[in-house]
Amino acid sequence: MPIKQLTETIINQIAAGEVIERPASVVKELVENSIDAGATRIEVVTAGGGKNLIRITDNGSGIGSDELALAVSRHCTSKLTDNVHDIRALGFRGEALPSIGSVSRLSLRSRTAKADSGYEISVHGGRQEGPRPTPMNGGTIAEVRDLFFATPARLKFMKTDRAEASAISDVVKRIAIAFPHIRFSLAGSDRTPIDLAATGPGSSGMLERISQVLGREFPENAIAIDAERDGVRLTGFAGIPAFNRGNSLHQFAYVNGRPVRDKQIWGAIRGAYADVIARDRHPVVVLFLNIDPALVDVNVHPAKADVRFRDPGLVRGLIVGAIREALGQSGIRAATSGADAMLNAFRLGGAESARPTPAHQAWRGNAAVNQNYSVERSLYRPLETERPVPASSGFSEGAQPFLYDGAAAIAADARGSLDEVPRELLSAPLGAARAQVHANYIVSQTEDSLIIVDQHAAHERLVYEALKTALHSRPLPAQMLLIPEIVDLPEEDVERLAVHAETLARFGLGIEPFGPGAIAVRETPSMLGEIDAQQLVRDLADEIAEHDTSNGLKGILDHVAATMACHGSVRSGRRLKPEEMNALLRQMEETPGSGTCNHGRPTYIELKLRDIERLFGRR
Ligand code: ADP
Ligand code: MG
Repeated sequence: MPIKQLTETIINQIAAGEVIERPASVVKELVENSIDAGATRIEVVTAGGGKNLIRITDNGSGIGSDELALAVSRHCTSKLTDNVHDIRALGFRGEALPSIGSVSRLSLRSRTAKADSGYEISVHGGRQEGPRPTPMNGGTIAEVRDLFFATPARLKFMKTDRAEASAISDVVKRIAIAFPHIRFSLAGSDRTPIDLAATGPGSSGMLERISQVLGREFPENAIAIDAERDGVRLTGFAGIPAFNRGNSLHQFAYVNGRPVRDKQIWGAIRGAYADVIARDRHPVVVLFLNIDPALVDVNVHPAKADVRFRDPGLVRGLIVGAIREALGQSGIRAATSGADAMLNAFRLGGAESARPTPAHQAWRGNAAVNQNYSVERSLYRPLETERPVPASSGFSEGAQPFLYDGAAAIAADARGSLDEVPRELLSAPLGAARAQVHANYIVSQTEDSLIIVDQHAAHERLVYEALKTALHSRPLPAQMLLIPEIVDLPEEDVERLAVHAETLARFGLGIEPFGPGAIAVRETPSMLGEIDAQQLVRDLADEIAEHDTSNGLKGILDHVAATMACHGSVRSGRRLKPEEMNALLRQMEETPGSGTCNHGRPTYIELKLRDIERLFGRR
């Protein structure tokens, strides 16, 4: 075939293949245009998940009649000077409108402040018509109908209307976070409307917009970040680990105000939370990076979602460092959502009352009598303890000290009493232990709150941290078994464990192959105390099988530490003496990240006295 120059329409359709992947990409491009035009109000209307209709109305600068034809032509932009390395607007490629017009029926109506009338231009499957005068006020209305009618192959890849509509909402919300001074609304037959009011300036306005998008609980469960390194500034909010989600859709990153979905940034976030959150859970994070435009290339992806940093190591270090520091500074902090859920459970009188009550409302004014009654009932219901706890002290005398080496010394006097509460303990963050209930929950009291600790989760976290700390300094002490424990295992597992025998020895676990299908355990980590070596070895084999290739040695070490911590932890069901409980609380206070267990669940919940008083109508 002879070589021919492609037609303009074909060139645009090829570009559309990259820029416009689905209806949400159209919305993203059009909303970006409105923002670049200085709009303070942007309205998005869709139908059929955006496949039938997308209409974006803004109150921005508008386009003059003489420029409308250029606006829909390829490589025409008002946003770029001669320097492609100095990009400040969201758009710069001059590709979006011609691409959209080549695969749909696009109409662009616009009026500038100076113009005597509005003008409309349309592009249907690449064919331009207009501009012609049309009545309208200021700003621009971009309307896209029958997306991909001109490229039916692409149409086949569309998801359901619902899925496409929700992808559009995600795009709008993602952009909206970076522009709190703009009012965004989203409506249409395919969705429930969203209206994000413009918020005030500064970081409080930013936080207000973030709560509009992510919900009111987010600010209560997040720590502000503000860090700078070599001229790169990082601000935003890091959700506490206990406030985690099942997917990464709740992670928002912006580079100079541009929403990005950048693998390096995601990787840095994952790294920052690696120790405090389960692998299949995701933190909620909002990060704004401000960087000299010359040090970042935004022109690496047609949809402008990826960026390339001149110094990726610097950016990663900044993100990981700032998030870790924020989480560390916040010390131990349980998710308020846990405490709120608990308060609501009390208010509702446990599971018996199906009617949800808005917080606080039932106790003021015309508090319903039977609401009061159900609360009373639930509070005084006898506790269904499986193993009744002696009424005298609540603690069995024979409990063994469980804490590992180096732990705060447990008082030798095992007959501790809960009757006198040491004053100084009340002012500690986790207070003074008062009781252990249901053989797993430590109830403690501070000056102004009541705290419930999940002893198994808390101890697991402490052992994990101690294992990791010890590992970095020297091999951990091991305890020789008098009779080696023989564990039968599939041959692959034996091999896998054998390969890592040296690593495991650093943790104090001494193993060696014992014939073709078995492992002999000769030593166990002293730190873990009495453990079920059989089960530990099997669990380790599973962990290593899962993480061997992907994460390298560092990854395995963390998983091995986590598995061991789980085995060495105080199991629920173990009675603790008062000294043991208090020692556990003190260790939690000293250990960074102890507010969540290794799986990201909270290790304790705090109920403020004033909330308790509210429950009883005292406030
Ligand atoms: P880019 O945004 O990369 O410049 P587009 O194809 O998206 O390319 O838009 C082309 C041009 O049309 C823009 O540079 C801008 O001048 C103009 N334009 C597009 N949308 C609007 C709008 N909503 N308000 C004002 N001008 C607009
Ligand atoms: Mg654009």
